[in-house]
Amino acid sequence: MAELEAVIGLEVHAQLLTRSKMFCGCRAEYLGLPPNSNTCPTCLGLPGALPVINRRAVEMTIRTALALGCRIPEFSKFDRKNYFYPDLPKGYQISQYDLPLSLGGHLEFEVGGERRSCGVTRVHLEEDAGTLHHAGEIHTAKFSLVDLNRAGVPLMEIVGEPDLRSPREAPHYLRALRQLLLHLGVNDGNMEQGSLRCDANISLRPRGQREFGVKVEVKNMNSFRSLQAALEFEFRRQTAVIESGDRVHQETRGWSEAEQGTFSQRSKEEAQDYRYFPEPDLPPLRVSRELVEELRAGLPEPPLRLKDRLRDQHGLSEEQAALLTERLQDAEYFQAMVASGAPPRAAANWQIGPLQALCKESALAIEHSPVPAAELAALVRMVEAGEVSGTSGREVLAEAFALGRSPVELIRERGLIQVSDAEQMEAWVELAIQQLPKAASDFQSGNDRALGPLVGAVRKASGGVANPDLASRLLRERLGRGGE
Ligand code: ADP
Ligand code: ZN
Ligand code: MG
Repeated sequence: MAELEAVIGLEVHAQLLTRSKMFCGCRAEYLGLPPNSNTCPTCLGLPGALPVINRRAVEMTIRTALALGCRIPEFSKFDRKNYFYPDLPKGYQISQYDLPLSLGGHLEFEVGGERRSCGVTRVHLEEDAGTLHHAGEIHTAKFSLVDLNRAGVPLMEIVGEPDLRSPREAPHYLRALRQLLLHLGVNDGNMEQGSLRCDANISLRPRGQREFGVKVEVKNMNSFRSLQAALEFEFRRQTAVIESGDRVHQETRGWSEAEQGTFSQRSKEEAQDYRYFPEPDLPPLRVSRELVEELRAGLPEPPLRLKDRLRDQHGLSEEQAALLTERLQDAEYFQAMVASGAPPRAAANWQIGPLQALCKESALAIEHSPVPAAELAALVRMVEAGEVSGTSGREVLAEAFALGRSPVELIRERGLIQVSDAEQMEAWVELAIQQLPKAASDFQSGNDRALGPLVGAVRKASGGVANPDLASRLLRERLGRGGE
């Protein structure tokens, strides 16, 4: 039997970071509010309430579509997608059907250093539903509570072409898409809380065959890991079905994190007819060419290109460049440090290492770091010039971060500037040898471990300001082991 190949296409939903909801003035931010407090007649679906299109949501969708290389047709419209579910008060979702805001783009991404590209069918705009809180497990709960705070939040859907060929590619595609949305500032990328969600379609076919097999749609994965695990599970399940001589049934399946497996939710026969029809309460959208060009001109550099540029321009490693371009704000901080005169590789290490650790500890985004880029750059310059030790530098950074002070000011206040002056250093070296004659003779006769206490004595004699590298070099010379 011919080897089977996977064909995969992802449908990604991203909540837009607008201030208000898609069709009313309620706040789009819905987490942590008392249930049903963030609602109005429009998002509650009360009779007579009319929707109004959120301009920012349309602009964010067009920007995303442009960043994905999509075409923006001049005319677009909203449609009603009719179905019943308790979290959908109107009995329909306002979405887009045959005339979406954009068509035909692609996304570049990397799999283990290799570049790939995946087509994007369309990016369109719709509204989110509310949330349900079941009293127990969904199938056995005596009742469920409805919270409509999320109802009407702007939701952008990015439909991917069936261009992916293995479960392993899927999380890489999604990562690249998430990164793009973060760089555009249109979505917060939080898969756990569901502001970024992904449905995965997968079918199998004998390698070499052109036609696609029957696809299964898997829903409800809320991490990159579970996306890949669900697709790998489906690959194995469908392989077993085909090898046993059966056919794969077109259906929607759910992913169970607890059981690490998919289960059938709805077969093709039970598929709903959504009775799409044009939303009569909203005018068709005409997107002017001027607006499209204005939005195109404001797009940031594509994340992969930014990564390559930082890597090549500043001699960074691939990994450093990737870490510094995860978010646009990371790249901006790094570039500001370099612009302030910090040597790029040292700047990268200080940002990725100590600074990001401090930010993570206090749950601060880098753009809210109490130590701004120019101040960290000044510290890095001093460490690189040997004016302050790396250890003192890291301690001072932590303190400056906690106090919201300038690291260089703290260094001066504490007298932490390292002394590298030769005459001054030699005097402290003599003092240290006088204080620790045994260590000196031990080191002379080959015991390397005796050097540590001697360097410590030099530092102590200097009140902590002696450059430790220079101290150990001078001690070696003075004790006759300079050539080693
Ligand atoms: P539907 O009409 O069932 O929604 P679409 O053609 O709109 O199907 O495609 C929905 C998603 O499924 C897209 O992301 C697309 O890439 C993917 N897809 C379509 N056909 C296949 C297939 N045979 N195998 C895997 N994925 C597919
Ligand atoms: Zn509302
Ligand atoms: Mg579809």
